[in-house]
Amino acid sequence: MNRDVCVEYLKYLAFTDEQIEEFMPKFEYAIPVLGLTEQDLRFSMDEWLPQNFDMQYEGVKKLMGATLRETVDIAYTTEYKKQGVKIVYGILPAIQTNYTAIKEAGGDGVFVSFADHWLLCGLQYLFHKVDPCLEKAEEEGMTYGCRHCALNKTRIGGYRKGMMAAPDVIWAWGFNCDEGPKTDEYINMLYGEGEWPHVISRLPHDTHWGEKDDEMVDRIEFLAKELKDGQREIEEIIGIEVKPEHMQRAVANCQRRAFKAGSLVQLVCKSNPQVLGANALTMFCNIFALPMNAGLEYFEDAVDTMLREGRKAMKEGVGVIEKDAPKLGCYFVPYAVPWIDRIFRDNGVAMTFSTVLTPNKKMMQAPSFEEPFMATAEQWLRMPIGQNMRYEIDSMIDKAKSNNVDGMVMGFFDFDRWLGAHQKMCAKIIEKETGIPHFYMESDFWEDRDYSPQALKTRIESICQVIKMRLEQ
Ligand code: SF4
Repeated sequence: MNRDVCVEYLKYLAFTDEQIEEFMPKFEYAIPVLGLTEQDLRFSMDEWLPQNFDMQYEGVKKLMGATLRETVDIAYTTEYKKQGVKIVYGILPAIQTNYTAIKEAGGDGVFVSFADHWLLCGLQYLFHKVDPCLEKAEEEGMTYGCRHCALNKTRIGGYRKGMMAAPDVIWAWGFNCDEGPKTDEYINMLYGEGEWPHVISRLPHDTHWGEKDDEMVDRIEFLAKELKDGQREIEEIIGIEVKPEHMQRAVANCQRRAFKAGSLVQLVCKSNPQVLGANALTMFCNIFALPMNAGLEYFEDAVDTMLREGRKAMKEGVGVIEKDAPKLGCYFVPYAVPWIDRIFRDNGVAMTFSTVLTPNKKMMQAPSFEEPFMATAEQWLRMPIGQNMRYEIDSMIDKAKSNNVDGMVMGFFDFDRWLGAHQKMCAKIIEKETGIPHFYMESDFWEDRDYSPQALKTRIESICQVIKMRLEQ
């Protein structure tokens, strides 16, 4: 790999000269591990990123830079393991607070990340190149035709291709995703007992229709206990004690980041013309939700930079789409397939917030409990994915109305047993109660082998036409 191209690439992603010097050895190590070539770096900076993202902003460049840092760090886990660093991964929802508390306690002696998410994002969001990982998983048993989740396939394929080491322990959350924990068990059984140690925490979906999950003290207590038990098990495995002060700092940091994410969503939704595209906005919102080992402080810097640039653009009346363009809310903007947002904008309609990652007013407030596991449990139950469907629908209606959208787009998870049906039901109920038109798109959030731009273009064009026609009436 030509070193000049690496330097050029890092400069493009807003790395300073000093940061390039510091980062370069790991970057050069990771490039072949991740299967990247000089052409991939060129394609990323000359075509993929400028075509799909608002790269005129330093904040967006830094967002990409933080994603790259995390991906490179994941590729380095094999070396970390040799150095005796303990490796802790997570799957959805990988509650950030617990992982950052473990990191606070263990420092450089521990690696924490939602590894398959960041590996997929690094490869797909930056280079459009996750397919080799998926194909590897398919070769080894996660068959293509069964429409398994690409995130879970990335975990298998990334591991088997040597892009990520086996963890000392993976926290396999059984809160939302049913295929995720099964995948950990699958890896463990397929490649050898003890190969992929995992700890499972569970939360039953047993609150009644419309009950407020985050206000039910017994539920918060139950979840706090699950979090504590899971974390203690992990502490024992890795030999690192997490003290209350580590948890307290993690709670406060998560709170601050949620506030920043909420502020950015409000800014973008209020701006006219809209100052930022939804494929970057939703990725920015991961700042308060997902753990990172190396990228988090850079990610927060990216959000701060974007907030400053977004305010300036709003003041100057500069946007990424024409003034008064129709706006759509979304259940979850597919940021790993960023051209979807671009095609909407090419058709004069802007996607905006994602209900699932938009902090509501409660999430931007401090938790009511001081005890850090209770505070973490409450914070998480305030998130839509922690709630029963009716309670989540109430917050979706609130977000759709307060942001004054012209329609909602649901979908992109037709392979998913939970989110596929869930969104269809939510769409039907919300449309009936609010009159806001809802559109459902069969597609895949994580990859685009089955849904090419050609395949989705016609669908997106017709959604945009219907929205415009409704507004003209
Ligand atoms: S997309 Fe669905 S199957 Fe994949 S990790 Fe998320 S919840 Fe699990």
